[in-house]
Amino acid sequence: KIVIRSLSKYFGAVQVLNNINLDVAEGDIVCLIGPSGSGKSTLLRCINQLERNEEGLIWIDGVPQGWKEQSGRLVQLTSAEVVRQRAKIGMVFQRFNLFPHFTALENIVEAPMQVKGMSRRDAQARALTLLEKVGLRDKAGSYPSQLSGGQQQRVAIARALAMDPDVMLFDEPTSALDPELVAEVLTVMRSLAESGMTMIVVTHELGFAREAASKVVFMDKGAVAEEGDPEAVLFAPQNDRTRDFISTVL
Ligand code: ATP
Ligand code: MG
Repeated sequence: KIVIRSLSKYFGAVQVLNNINLDVAEGDIVCLIGPSGSGKSTLLRCINQLERNEEGLIWIDGVPQGWKEQSGRLVQLTSAEVVRQRAKIGMVFQRFNLFPHFTALENIVEAPMQVKGMSRRDAQARALTLLEKVGLRDKAGSYPSQLSGGQQQRVAIARALAMDPDVMLFDEPTSALDPELVAEVLTVMRSLAESGMTMIVVTHELGFAREAASKVVFMDKGAVAEEGDPEAVLFAPQNDRTRDFISTVL
């Protein structure tokens, strides 16, 4: 379970997140939508501590992210502790971010071996299972340049899953793909959702949001402007900005 309270984030003097409060229950699929620059990526990056937020706190399963209790007060984690905490959160980016000189299999085994100290044998066995799950068992030995964008993105999902995360964050995972490759990635995401994974997904795929989301959150100017059931937010938005945004995406 993720609890975000009074989260604000500034880049210099510019406030990009403004008092965000958000609850994500275990197994929830939260779809984040909103105009460019509204802070969606920054929010995901704060959740997995690629950015540090100046105000507010994020708890995952009761553990404050980036902080620990020491003699009764909260102190900031060291960077090694941040790495350990981040290992519980999988992230998939718009661009596939695979290591170009590694095969699909090597991309997937890297983090479990380096960060978790898993043996190569165990990591490879698990990687093959995950490749099977994303429909790419036969591409284990292929390099990213030999894979389509959709296949690369499915490898990126398998790579994130290899760390056995509690939560998966997706930042516009299909928006860099050719239209005919979007469906195969959404299918993998849908089956992940059905398996009970907790997911936060920034997406303009409103069809996916409608079917898969437990909650849709509309962000505007760094704040949560509206949130609720997909049907309510997508088809009966209360906020004018939500309505305008949805009409531009549809
Ligand atoms: P998009 O839909 O285009 O991906 P977004 O909702 O993900 O947009 P963010 O990338 O979170 O928006 O950006 C929010 C605001 O923060 C923008 O105004 C952006 O210019 C600014 N911003 C993001 N990263 C930085 C940075 N590293 N330094 C300064 N400003 C930044
Ligand atoms: Mg973004």
